[in-house]
Amino acid sequence: MLFSISVLLATHLIVPIIFIVSLWIDFPKSQIELFMTIWSYGSYILFIFLVGNWSWFGYYLRYLFLFLFAIATIKYALSFTILPLWLNPELNQWSDLLAVGFVLIFFMFLNLKAFKAHSTFEPSISLSFPLKQGTYYVAHGGNSSLVNSHYKNQAQRFALDIVKLNLWGIRARGLYPSELNRYEIFDNELYSPCDGEIVNITNELPDNIPPLKDDINLAGNKIVIKTDNYLVVLAHIRISSIIVTQGELINKGQLIAKVGNSGNTTEPHLHIHAVQGEQLEDLFHGIGVLIIFDGRFLVRNSLVKA
Ligand SMILES: [Zn+2]
Repeated sequence: MLFSISVLLATHLIVPIIFIVSLWIDFPKSQIELFMTIWSYGSYILFIFLVGNWSWFGYYLRYLFLFLFAIATIKYALSFTILPLWLNPELNQWSDLLAVGFVLIFFMFLNLKAFKAHSTFEPSISLSFPLKQGTYYVAHGGNSSLVNSHYKNQAQRFALDIVKLNLWGIRARGLYPSELNRYEIFDNELYSPCDGEIVNITNELPDNIPPLKDDINLAGNKIVIKTDNYLVVLAHIRISSIIVTQGELINKGQLIAKVGNSGNTTEPHLHIHAVQGEQLEDLFHGIGVLIIFDGRFLVRNSLVKA
């Protein structure tokens, strides 16, 4: 976990700050260098804006970095008209430009994938958002593994992991606290996303203390709802918080449980996905179906103010 947090810190804070500061203090030697530098740094800033998980350090930082990058870019580009197009080809200049060009092409390619993650024309199921008390953030969701860790799993292709943000746009008090109630979403009330029948419940598994996980009961405490020809599962629910029973018919918007941290989860969040079919084995081995919440296709960095 320490490694993951270090990677998050480097990719979301340190690299963007280095790029912004170096644009601010550096002077380009040629127009070509100016363009290549702005495009390559910019394509990384756009990439981390699109695919970064900003609930760790502050959702609003993603906009602040865009703004600072724009200001630094203007300052860097001020000398444009007095620069030569191209210096006499020196070896250093060529290798610098080659490196910059590689970064540029690599991140432009990833950015195309990231844009693609925001749209899909798959058949979908319409659900209502199951949380009602604040600002919720999509940590995993969307049409690409760049923004959705579930994407490679056929049944969970369009699964979502949802956390809640505080006023600062951060999902927890502390970077990665072990106390569950330091996570904004923990113990939030969970409401049924649809009309349907409860077909399966697990309610007795403990809430794990981060970073401990339950590798055997992957979904942890869960509610499975049958609606039309689909199954919808809500997972990682708080122990003993489920107040509906198997076989019960429920209505959209009905209180059903509370968010917890049971199962294979690194921290409190709500996992939700839907599959075609009516058999329980379809849940994790069937074909996942796209979920549209209240008319929106939710992707990482989508906010839902409920
Ligand atoms: Zn999940």
